[in-house]
Amino acid sequence: MLLDYPSLLVAIGFSAVCLSALLFTAWMTARADRYLLTCAIGALLVVCHAFTYAAYANDPQPLLLCIGFGFLMVALGVLYGAARQFRTGRPPWPHAVSVAAISLAIVLPPISGGYDGISAILFNAAAATIIALIAGEYWRARQDAPVAIAGLCGFYLFIGSTFVLCGAVLVLEGRLVLDGAPSNWAEHLNVISAVIGIPGVGAMTMILNQSRMTQLHKRDAMTDPLTGLFNRRALFDMVGAMAMGREIAVILFDIDHFKAINDARGHATGDRVIALFARALRQHLGKGQLAARLGGEEFALVLGDIGPQTALAHAEAVRTSFAQLAMAELGMACTASAGVAHGQATGRDFEATLNAADQMLYKAKRGGRDRTALAGQDAGEAGMITRPSSSRP
Ligand code: GH3
Ligand code: MG
Ligand code: MG
Repeated sequence: MLLDYPSLLVAIGFSAVCLSALLFTAWMTARADRYLLTCAIGALLVVCHAFTYAAYANDPQPLLLCIGFGFLMVALGVLYGAARQFRTGRPPWPHAVSVAAISLAIVLPPISGGYDGISAILFNAAAATIIALIAGEYWRARQDAPVAIAGLCGFYLFIGSTFVLCGAVLVLEGRLVLDGAPSNWAEHLNVISAVIGIPGVGAMTMILNQSRMTQLHKRDAMTDPLTGLFNRRALFDMVGAMAMGREIAVILFDIDHFKAINDARGHATGDRVIALFARALRQHLGKGQLAARLGGEEFALVLGDIGPQTALAHAEAVRTSFAQLAMAELGMACTASAGVAHGQATGRDFEATLNAADQMLYKAKRGGRDRTALAGQDAGEAGMITRPSSSRP
């Protein structure tokens, strides 16, 4: 080998210092991503492990072995906590402390009895297990950035597999007592995997973070902040280029006399009314259906596989829920009007269908508000308009 074993351990230490600094800097620029800070702490503990274990390789004292093993168990516990934090968004410390405590309790006791070889076998088994658990946590959260997560898991598993080999060699050699740091092909492969794997983990974490931020910005750009529904741009992105058949309905809603609500109760109450309408929309939103706030107090629904009467009933159900929510939560009598239009057998573009729904909305408003107007599906076929909800028994 070009470098001896302790020198490679020192190289791992420096590599982990760089990883820690990189993760810490990334966290400074994206403070909400706290798992980056947890990872940076984990990487610093790897540095402590590498330097103490290098010291043990030079001067094999049981205390140095204890500290060296201990640092890596704690480091992996923290990195496991970081992986869970990445997946769940919850604080990492309960899991980090449990994993570190359990692994320390398994790995260290044999050293005090003089069986440092058994400790080394348990240490390798524990390290491989925790690394597999870390990879498992990231893998479960792969939907946002599958390629980066696959790369990250690949690097973790590459390092983890070499711990399995180190343990297996010790078992095969039957080494219950060590006479210094084990030095065999598996140990060398292990340090080489760490030299390669640590920068690899760093690079993949950065890519992962970048894709997460991009996803977040994309989601922000598509979401209406007041209601959490899709905004106009998102709706057009998703269905703007679609040819709509007869089975697709577009429903447009507009809250009635909303200016008067703003004037009488203030803008903040107006905002709450808008949010309540969004809640009413969500209450009736099925799988594959789209709801968006087009702007102001105007909303759109796109429903697939739905006939005229069912679409009409859907609009009525949303309007009724909205009136009930406004009365229950704000003590206000609020109503909304709706216009329903379908696509055509030959395919009608989304904008034309939306315009047709808008004409129906206008008809509902002109008809006295608090009602739904439905466009006829074919030329010459009459549409229909409901009675106002407030006049129904
Ligand atoms: P109509 O029954 O004919 O729909 O009457 P309207 O008073 O609802 O009329 P219009 O749709 O023109 O009113 C829209 C108002 O909505 C005008 C604007 O000040 C208000 N508005 C637009 N966006 C917001 C918002 O985000 N919050 C609040 N509180 N008001 C908004
Ligand atoms: Mg209005
Ligand atoms: Mg309006």
